[in-house]
Parts: sequence; structure tokens; C-alpha cells
Amino acid sequence: MTYIPPKDEMLHLTLMGGQARVLLCRTTVLSQEMARIHHPSDTACAALSRLMSGTLMLSVMMKGENDSVTVTVAGDGPIGKMTAVAKGGEIKATAEHPQEEVPRRADGHLDVGTLVGRHGRLSVVKDLGLKEPYIGQVNLISGELGEDFAEYFTASEQTPSLVALGARVNDGLPLSTGGILVQAMPDCGEDLLNQLELRSMLFADISRELAEHDLTELAMAWFDGLEPQVVEKQPLFWRCDCSRERMERALLALGKAELTDILNEDGFATLTCHFCRTARVFNEDDLKRLIENA
Ligand SMILES: [Zn+2]
Repeated sequence: MTYIPPKDEMLHLTLMGGQARVLLCRTTVLSQEMARIHHPSDTACAALSRLMSGTLMLSVMMKGENDSVTVTVAGDGPIGKMTAVAKGGEIKATAEHPQEEVPRRADGHLDVGTLVGRHGRLSVVKDLGLKEPYIGQVNLISGELGEDFAEYFTASEQTPSLVALGARVNDGLPLSTGGILVQAMPDCGEDLLNQLELRSMLFADISRELAEHDLTELAMAWFDGLEPQVVEKQPLFWRCDCSRERMERALLALGKAELTDILNEDGFATLTCHFCRTARVFNEDDLKRLIENA
């Protein structure tokens, strides 16, 4: 029997009347979609799943309907550059070498830090529909991604933040993935800060907790006594918004000379989307039309 996980969701909560905010998400179904497309190794599957959970947290905090965020993790590990793009609750992701694998750690856990690399950068580009996008970046801390996202939130967004990201994977299939972000607001009291610090230990094995419990139930248990209040529940999805038109624009950007070379040498062009691996063929007539318009 195939295991059907509960639907993916982002839970927005406040604690102590807004002194802290929490985002808690389950991303198992969209991670499974990612795995179906990219056929990643177990560790790459965990890395990409964690990247997507972290990116969705950034995305759901943006206010505009068309605002989008791109997170790029460029570490010195074998997976190469990883990229995730999210808009609202929709996300897509890719990696340069998703089939690369590394041995498990001594404790039996997947070694995401080694696959991603411990040296490099996590970059965030937010497109807010303005002329210039917002760009922020931090150096990687461990490549495990939870700490790296926490560093980004704390340094770039100047908000003390705790992040835990988890992914349980078996044979290339994500069984339970998701994460939590806890942010202290400027008026956060010392007592609450201490409590949050203490309770962060509860998130250590978040993928197991997510596999066994409902999101709201989890949040209520973890933040018991801190006035947890659910302010929003938002569905999360995998979606690639690529299209033939977009690819045509990419071809047009090559310019007349290069397009003519392609036409003369190959007679056609095949473009594959990095995110969903959809291949689109542009035949001789398509190329001629593009050259005319270039
Ligand atoms: Zn695509």
C-alpha cells in the first residue's frame, strides 16, 4: 500500500500576544513531487526538501500577491548549487548534481552538511515588483541548512531566529519533511526568550514529530503555556511556472547570430527546464521565426 501523507501546510502562530511569531510547515507531498522529478540521492533529497521548507518560510512572509523569492545555496560540496523559487505557498527547486551521494554520519543520519558543503553562501533574492530586487546573503555555517537559514534571518533580517529543518527519507522517497521558524519580535520579554531557547530542543527531531502528529497539535504541545494562537493556515504546493513562451524569450535573448548558428548546425533546439525537467523542442520553422524577431 502506498503511504499518503497529510496535505502540506504552513501554520502561522503568535506567542504571548505577538511577542514572538512561529511558522511551522509540513512539506512532504511537495518534496515527493520534487523527488519524482529529480530522482535525487537520499541525502540530496533531504537537502532539497530542507531548502524548500526554508524558502517557503521566507515566501509566506512576503505580502504582495506576486512577490517571489529565490534562495540559492552555493556550497563547496558535491551537490553543487541548489536553487528554490517560491511565490506564496508555491515552490519549485533544483540542484546541479542531485544524484551525488555521501556516506551517512557516524550517528546514522544523512550527512547533508557534507553534500552541500560547509563553505559557501546562502543568497536570497526577493522580487517585490520594484525596479531593484532585495538581495541578502550570508556565509554558510554548517551546510545543514537549518542553521544557515537561522543565520540569514538573524543577520540579514535583524530578527533573532531559531530554525529547525528536517527530512526523513527512505530509498529516495521523502517520508516526512518540514520545519519550524521561531522569531522574537522587538518587544519580546526576557522570560519568553528563555522559554524559546529551552523549547528549541523539542524541535531536534522535527521530521519524526511531523510524521506522527497534526501540525496544530504539535504547535499547541510545544508552546503550551506561551499563549499559542493560530493566525493562519496556508496550503503549500509544488508548481513550476515555466512555459514555451518563457523559453522563447530565453532563445531570443541569445541574439540573431547565435540562433542562426543553431539553425545551421542542428536545425532545431531542445530546451529543458531545470526545475521540472520538461523538455521543449523548437524546430526549424520555430527557429526561423525567432531569428526574424530577434
Ligand atoms: Zn519547469
